[in-house]
Amino acid sequence: MKYSIFSLAKAALSGHRGWTRAWRDPVPKKHYDVVIIGGGGHGLATAYYLAHEYGIRDVAVLEKGWIGSGNAGRNTTIIRSNYMLPGNTGFYELSMKLWERMERDLNFNTMVSQRGIINLCHSDAQRDAFARRGNAMRISGIDAELLDATAVRRMLPFLNFEDARFPITGGLLQRRAGTARHDAVVWGYARAGDRLGVDIIQNCEVTGFVQRNGRVTGIETTRGTIGASKVGMAVAGNSSRAAAMAGLRLPIESHVLQAFVSEAIKPLIPGVISFGAGHFYISQSDKGGLVFGGDLDGYNSYAQRGNMPVIEDVCEGGMALMPMIGRVRLLRQWGGIMDMSMDGSPIIDRTPVNGLYLNAGWCYGGFKATPASGLTFAHLLARDEPHPEASRFRLDRFRRGAMIDEKGQGAQPNLH
Ligand SMILES: Cc1cc2nc3c(=O)[nH]c(=O)nc-3n(C[C@H](O)[C@H](O)[C@H](O)COP(=O)(O)OP(=O)(O)OC[C@H]3O[C@@H](n4cnc5c(N)ncnc54)[C@H](O)[C@@H]3O)c2cc1C
Repeated sequence: MKYSIFSLAKAALSGHRGWTRAWRDPVPKKHYDVVIIGGGGHGLATAYYLAHEYGIRDVAVLEKGWIGSGNAGRNTTIIRSNYMLPGNTGFYELSMKLWERMERDLNFNTMVSQRGIINLCHSDAQRDAFARRGNAMRISGIDAELLDATAVRRMLPFLNFEDARFPITGGLLQRRAGTARHDAVVWGYARAGDRLGVDIIQNCEVTGFVQRNGRVTGIETTRGTIGASKVGMAVAGNSSRAAAMAGLRLPIESHVLQAFVSEAIKPLIPGVISFGAGHFYISQSDKGGLVFGGDLDGYNSYAQRGNMPVIEDVCEGGMALMPMIGRVRLLRQWGGIMDMSMDGSPIIDRTPVNGLYLNAGWCYGGFKATPASGLTFAHLLARDEPHPEASRFRLDRFRRGAMIDEKGQGAQPNLH
């Protein structure tokens, strides 16, 4: 069923009884050309682009829970391409361009809203760093504007400008950045992939790999063994666990990141705001809730829930930036597991095991990467060579010393 204003009107006039399933619930086949492990945004996008761009339709996505039950459905929905380093700039701008046409491509309302992101600066040194970043972006054809304090005040008058410790001295604005509805992105890719023949198999956990002569030939799952010519892993926070089943040790740690939503209030925040003197960022959902987040929990974990000290820390950041937030009631809070790489950048590459491919290391920024990650991973799976825009996201870059360390934090995943 193609969605359009006419199909909507027809459904409304017939009491909404004519809707068909958005995707099938198939029984797993004995063998697929490509099996993708992980029904998050990246796995589903990969399957869609494999079918749509590369004509490979004998594809299954295996998801241990329900699609979108991992980070895809837990993130704070920010999309942006304000990166500085070669390798990242082109990749994230490719993603931004795919976001801009996603709704037409998928025939699904993913609620992409280019409401802008502003990264606030609080010192001269920070402003210089943002000027450098903005210049690098503009040289790469990405929009960026450096604002002074007066321009920020005009845009966001409610911020705490005169704070003695963290006075706001300006900000770096990317107007094309914004938010998208995370669940809708999952559903949109699932539906579009399904229409091209992709099997989306939920409640199917991968428990092991079948290997012959150093090559993966299939996978063991809770729904039986499935043969595969190629297997792609896109399991985010579970990457090291999944790779260990194939005998691999990845340069990845798993950490918890929490997100928060307040009760709905009247429209207040026009875009996304990122505090530069602490770890706090905030936007407002279309329903009116303030959506915000901050630091990682300070320990490695595979548990999808967070701790109280980080809740306090994030709320302190919010209070420092916009003290009136203290009168808003917190409605919900949850956690997701991040696959933190050693330089804060992703890995899209073949693994040392033939037939096994890796998509991981998204840290807390992988939602914005969803379309480009799917497209470039599909390219790798289809052609056995990296997509030009993902050619630096190699697994061996840590050994070669070719890190893409956007934050300059070194090998400290908890700081990325
Ligand atoms: C609180 C929070 C806020 C965030 N905010 C942002 C943001 O604002 N902007 C941004 O760009 N990024 C953000 N992120 C990061 C982003 O959500 C992730 O980087 C991205 O979603 C990861 O890719 P994914 O969608 O494929 O992962 P997931 O949705 O986690 O998909 C992986 C899937 O693999 C499945 N799986 C795991 N093991 C197995 C197995 N053995 N067998 C079968 N299936 C398996 C899991 O169940 C899961 O569904 C945030 C993350 C969190 C947690």
